[in-house]
Amino acid sequence: MRFVDEFRQQPLAQGLARALARAAERLPRPIQIMEVCGGHTHAIFRFGLHDLLPPQVRLIHGPGCPVCVTPRSRVEQAIAIARQPGVILTCFGDMLRVPGRRTSLLGARAEGADVRMVYSALDALEIARAHPDRQVVWFAIGFETTIPGNAMAALRARGMGLRNFYLLTSQVLLPPALRAILDAPDVRVDAFIGPGHVSTIIGTEPYRFVAEEYGRPVVISGFEPLDLLQSILMIVRQLVEGRAEVEVQYRRAVPPRGNPIALRAMAEVFRPVTQEWRGLGVLPESGLGLRPEFAEMDADRAFPDIAPGELPDPRACACGEILRGVRTPPECPVFGTGCTPEHPLGACMVSPEGACAAYYRYRPHRDGREGAPAAATPASGAAAATFAAGRAAPGGESR
Ligand code: SF4
Repeated sequence: MRFVDEFRQQPLAQGLARALARAAERLPRPIQIMEVCGGHTHAIFRFGLHDLLPPQVRLIHGPGCPVCVTPRSRVEQAIAIARQPGVILTCFGDMLRVPGRRTSLLGARAEGADVRMVYSALDALEIARAHPDRQVVWFAIGFETTIPGNAMAALRARGMGLRNFYLLTSQVLLPPALRAILDAPDVRVDAFIGPGHVSTIIGTEPYRFVAEEYGRPVVISGFEPLDLLQSILMIVRQLVEGRAEVEVQYRRAVPPRGNPIALRAMAEVFRPVTQEWRGLGVLPESGLGLRPEFAEMDADRAFPDIAPGELPDPRACACGEILRGVRTPPECPVFGTGCTPEHPLGACMVSPEGACAAYYRYRPHRDGREGAPAAATPASGAAAATFAAGRAAPGGESR
């Protein structure tokens, strides 16, 4: 298959792993690299890339799973809106099973609410067009990757003169999250693997502060094993050479200035707002809400009595620390016991981009100390076998 097989060639991966091992020997100390994007997390596990890393390089997981960072209070609000008479609540499929206070959107559907899974905001718009007598609410979550689609749906709804289409927004911006992580006292991040999909929209400029203010390299990466190994090598070379720059490994998809059409649509419909994140708390100007000109589509206004109250995660759930890179999923006391994909306690176990789901699916019995010396033998037979197995594994693509 073109543009996939080329990036999964095992001999090239082994060559990159050897180059990485050589470069890492020149690091002054062990390093921690955060892969920000949940799609990267799953690709790393799916292809067993931890086993190809030298002992000086450890990967930690970041907040780049849109379902995971949606606060529980907002999920609870969506459930409450879905229960209103005449409402059709539409959402992505992985949002359905995220637990609220007592149940999930899927549970609410089982109890009679009209909750429908769709693949995009435009699908939700089509439902609104087909049901003019119902109030159709789109649960508009996500990062810069999905926000342009939400903007296009709002613009199209206005063009069609629809008056029954609403957005319940929980839209988040990645650069403020990186700043929050860098400012946090409880985790050390030496460099970032930058998100590929978000960067197709925003380009490279919004990451410049990471390099210039914090002195940390950012390498924007693709999602195939060779992409990720090359990105890690580029980061290690920057650190060895004392550089901190924003580099793009994923050049086949990421233009330096991003996607101006998508950025224009986002700016036309949305404005920066203070946003609550699961794990990171409330961050100023870290989200996008509807502009006043689109207030008639704002679900918060249409359903004013269902305001989100405070609703922290269950005490046993360590999602917040996992989204900040402070802990790994096996360090959560209920990982794989009280919390499984069938019976999730937190969002990180539900979403296909969640770190807990990645651990559970690909290495449920490992201790989670990725990059620890015992696990790292570049180009070893075990790693090659893992890599080959990963190549054949189904699924694992991120949106
Ligand atoms: S394993 Fe479950 S309970 Fe633990 S952090 Fe992950 S999602 Fe939360």
